[in-house]
Amino acid sequence: MPEIIGYSVLALFVALILFMVIRTLLTKKPKLEDRNYTPHEIDLERVTSHLVGAVQIPTVTLKDNDCDGSIFYKYQEYLEKCYPKIMAVAKKTNVNKYAVIYTVKGSDESLLPCAILAHQDVVPAPEEGWEVPPFSGAIKDGYVYGRGSQDMKSQMIVALEGLEILLEDGLYPKRTIMFCFGHDEELRGTFGALEISKHLESQGIKLEYVLDEGGTILDGKMLGINNKIALIGTCEKGYADYVLEVEKDGGHSSAPDRRTSVGILSEALYKIEKHKRRAYWTKPTKDMFKSIAPYMNFGFKLALVNRDILSPVLKLVLTLVSPFTNGLMRTTLAPTQTKGAHTPNTLAPVATGTVNSRINTGETVEQVKAYIQKIAGKNVKISMLEGSIDPSPVSDIDTQAFKDLQQTIGEVFNGYIAAPYPFIAASDAKHYYNLTNCVYRFTPFEKTIEDGARIHGINERQSIESLELGTRFFLRLYENTCF
Ligand SMILES: [Zn+2]
Repeated sequence: MPEIIGYSVLALFVALILFMVIRTLLTKKPKLEDRNYTPHEIDLERVTSHLVGAVQIPTVTLKDNDCDGSIFYKYQEYLEKCYPKIMAVAKKTNVNKYAVIYTVKGSDESLLPCAILAHQDVVPAPEEGWEVPPFSGAIKDGYVYGRGSQDMKSQMIVALEGLEILLEDGLYPKRTIMFCFGHDEELRGTFGALEISKHLESQGIKLEYVLDEGGTILDGKMLGINNKIALIGTCEKGYADYVLEVEKDGGHSSAPDRRTSVGILSEALYKIEKHKRRAYWTKPTKDMFKSIAPYMNFGFKLALVNRDILSPVLKLVLTLVSPFTNGLMRTTLAPTQTKGAHTPNTLAPVATGTVNSRINTGETVEQVKAYIQKIAGKNVKISMLEGSIDPSPVSDIDTQAFKDLQQTIGEVFNGYIAAPYPFIAASDAKHYYNLTNCVYRFTPFEKTIEDGARIHGINERQSIESLELGTRFFLRLYENTCF
């Protein structure tokens, strides 16, 4: 009798392995459609000079909408001068003063419009540490230097450039294209992007798709893929800064109480770091792995195709293998700041610490706050800084617009794999879910990690060479979706 049970278990095990292997073998790479793509000639000097001029106009985000924002009008005049073909047919609408929509009406009214987003504003740039003045737009070593050169005037310029070229060729779009440029993305986009989306909603407008900055182009090696992966953001993680505060009697540190405010705070921060939020699969993470699995080597592919069976092991591996994959699987909690007494020999009457959190789809700012409170204990008071936001909705990917975006990336970037993923930073795009379920984030520039780190920092720069493919990307996206 025990023998029969033993054999049955073995047979089941073998069947399971066979099932997983067959499933893996049946997973095939999707093919790009053959749409006759011929790369267009790009006048790189012209694109570069347009970017230089854009960087030279210091459109620093306004503190509030009542400040003098005439610099944004100057910036818009500049764009209008650079793109005469677009502006000859576009309708301009200013929203909430400085945000702007340029609408190029398509010839086929039955098609829903698409919206190409970019933000006009940039973060401040104190001159200290810059190799060139931050608003000079200087060209150096094959780069355009300056605040906004990456984030995100380069993307705005190539997006306009792509359509200008098609219009110069005497072509005209069937689908309406709306360029929606907010002016306070760096402060959450409530005056710009949010007002634009409300304005469009009030006009009864629905969109085919929205494309904004975000996403990244990764080397696939760390995932066992011998290619580059272009990641398209289909949602945004939430964001919150939690302030932990412990109050205790102050006084001289020669006679401390049994517990000090700094000690209690440190213990709380240590526990928060140790007790990570649970790891779980979200739709965007599942979508991502489903899209890239067919390109992986057999081992990785087997694991991901059989995610439902191997889930516990996979979760463990992904949370341990790199901070990037860990961030895909859970809400992260990172202690970032602490403050105690002003002098080394005083007991701090108040000790404070900050925990920065990026909240996973499916959880909320309030749930995470409750979790931190539970871990930190009742002696720690928790509050939230302004600017916290729940995760955004998740975009559909079984859509023609997403397929066209993948197709365009594959064509322009010579076979790169395009996959959806949960975007970890913030963008204006989150304000547009009232108009469509197809809200995507992609930045069509390859960059080094070192260059990416210059965003919001010193010596921000955009490689001139990358502007060529960036322009081709938008040009081809319009051809694939609007012409
Ligand atoms: Zn940006």
